[in-house]
Amino acid sequence: MSFLVAIDGPAGSGKGTIAQIIADKLNFIKIDTGAMYRCVALYLLENNIEINNIQKIISKLDEINIKIDESKELVYLNNENVTDKIRQPNVSKIVSQVSSIKEVRLKLIDLQRKIASDKKVVMEGRDITTVVFPNANVKIYLDAKLEIRAERRYLEVLEKNKDIKYEDVLNNIIIRDKNDKEKEFGALKVADDAIVIDTTYLNIEEVADKIINIIKMKMKG
Ligand code: C5P
Repeated sequence: MSFLVAIDGPAGSGKGTIAQIIADKLNFIKIDTGAMYRCVALYLLENNIEINNIQKIISKLDEINIKIDESKELVYLNNENVTDKIRQPNVSKIVSQVSSIKEVRLKLIDLQRKIASDKKVVMEGRDITTVVFPNANVKIYLDAKLEIRAERRYLEVLEKNKDIKYEDVLNNIIIRDKNDKEKEFGALKVADDAIVIDTTYLNIEEVADKIINIIKMKMKG
């Protein structure tokens, strides 16, 4: 039986952590779609392709092969393990611009739908409840205050990069929020039938349990 849980929200809203807890507890597959957009951004950086050269980017899309090993939480770009590389600040800096290109989105949406077909999946991103799976069984929109989101993201990145500065993470999130919400295609927005949860003052485990209860109720029919 397939069952789709779609979670959207801005950076640092808790999507990734919450999706992982749900997947672990219910034995679902967790798919981080942001990682896929990050792979495209990394490919452009490593191949010195200008972010403004849209035609060149489109012509290279067939050379970008992304694989996700959900069980080990590893991300591969053209068979190279790029799990850590895609979290670097240079990738974060250009990823929302890369994700504004319609052809990039169409390629990744297709991949996301293929990966999820006939499975029990928790998929998180920006347009999962609105574009990728508008008919998902459960649709959640997570949000939190900007400063709290920046602090969460800062602590996450700090584990791998000791030189990171809070102000830089905050500024990157402000710019990405704006870009992601103003995109022509696949903009971050709240779906009419999504359940909205503000995680600012909530314990992440509690939020995950709340969503798990919603999923269990839906599964019972
Ligand atoms: O989730 P994460 O912060 O890693 O996502 C990186 C970027 O990828 C976002 O800022 C957004 O521009 C883009 N993205 C998107 N659609 C998704 C997931 C991510 O446009 N479904």
